[in-house]
Amino acid sequence: MERPTRYFLYHLHSDYSFLDSCTDFGDYIDLVKRDGGKAIASTEHGLPRGWVSKKLQCDKAGLKFVHGVEIYLTEQLEPKVRDNYHTVLLAKNAEGLKELNSLVTISSDDAHFYYVNRLSFEEFLGISDNIIKTSACLASPLNKLDESDPWFEKLLRHYDYLEVQPHNHPDQIAFNKRLAAYSKKYGIPLVAGTDTHSSSPYKAECRSILMAAKHKSYGDEDAFDLTYKIVDELIEAFRVQGAMSQEEYYEAIENTNHIADACEDFSLDTSIKYPILHGSKEDDESIFVQRVWESLDDKLEKGIIPREQETAFRDALQEELRVFKKLGMSGFMLSMSDLVRWCKSEGMAIGTARGSVGGSRAAYVTDIIDLNPEQWHTVFSRFANEDRVEIGDQWSPRTVMCGEKSGEPVNAGCALAA
Ligand SMILES: [Zn+2]
Ligand SMILES: [Zn+2]
Repeated sequence: MERPTRYFLYHLHSDYSFLDSCTDFGDYIDLVKRDGGKAIASTEHGLPRGWVSKKLQCDKAGLKFVHGVEIYLTEQLEPKVRDNYHTVLLAKNAEGLKELNSLVTISSDDAHFYYVNRLSFEEFLGISDNIIKTSACLASPLNKLDESDPWFEKLLRHYDYLEVQPHNHPDQIAFNKRLAAYSKKYGIPLVAGTDTHSSSPYKAECRSILMAAKHKSYGDEDAFDLTYKIVDELIEAFRVQGAMSQEEYYEAIENTNHIADACEDFSLDTSIKYPILHGSKEDDESIFVQRVWESLDDKLEKGIIPREQETAFRDALQEELRVFKKLGMSGFMLSMSDLVRWCKSEGMAIGTARGSVGGSRAAYVTDIIDLNPEQWHTVFSRFANEDRVEIGDQWSPRTVMCGEKSGEPVNAGCALAA
């Protein structure tokens, strides 16, 4: 077997693994790029936090992103026990990505959650071939369960790879030896997991401060060097560890590259999607237009909008409705109007306006905001501009729940005018 010249960093934690890493995911991207890597995965503890932004960063850097998570497993959901074993899941393709995300959702409900989100052993056994499963670290069920446990062999057989790690610690050495033996016996390949938690020795030192703050220690910190390694350092660590033959750890390292090849690249649909409330964009559009003009008449009649502003309002609303139609935003505006009106009918306090929506006359007449743009001379084009393609994400009126329904007039509530 030839000496590996690269490896795929597939078992990886960034500062999204809260209190367990101080490294920004972008730093790993830089290192992998520097060392000629073609792919990178993310396997945060429990939840695939920040995966969309990581994916977009990888797209920019020209790296294949593999969506993953180091999920927690439990033997039984009821009665709840805090066993919380570790297992690495990697999405092989788009179907696997969806499956992984639904598993994470399931793992987070009340029936599953206990200190952390978990899946049951039974659910783990139901995971499809669209997800690559590796046995993870010393917290693996394969390390913590006794071989005679009825679950042991079932779980073992469901792993695609048995994960050996290079830490020079007696427990890891013993575990690697057992994994190498199972690999032969069951024909399941070994794979070299680094369980990387830090991009540099400095970041590793920062992480140890987090560990100390949690009163956590692996006993021998030096043995568990979870700092990013180049392939030669990884090979050297396995050699020094001495748990497996050179043939075995070369193959385990090479298998990381096989995983990278097996995982398909995918692209995210980042197109703008506004809600459709009444079956079609067109229906929403006409309902919104009707609401705008009716609400204007209503506010004029009640004197909320002074008669001297009527012409200015009518002219501005024509223009706004044209832009909303062009940008396909009518359903969105309608949904916000529905939402705010509902909040008001329930006695919830609503902010006056937030951000650039304060420039929209349509938002004012349909009750999305309580700030009259004519009076304050605020500008519509800052909010919605037909020449600018971006989603209206910063502006939604913030509903402020000031405790119980107070019965107070909404405008007198805790307005959050930003
Ligand atoms: Zn782990
Ligand atoms: Zn890990």
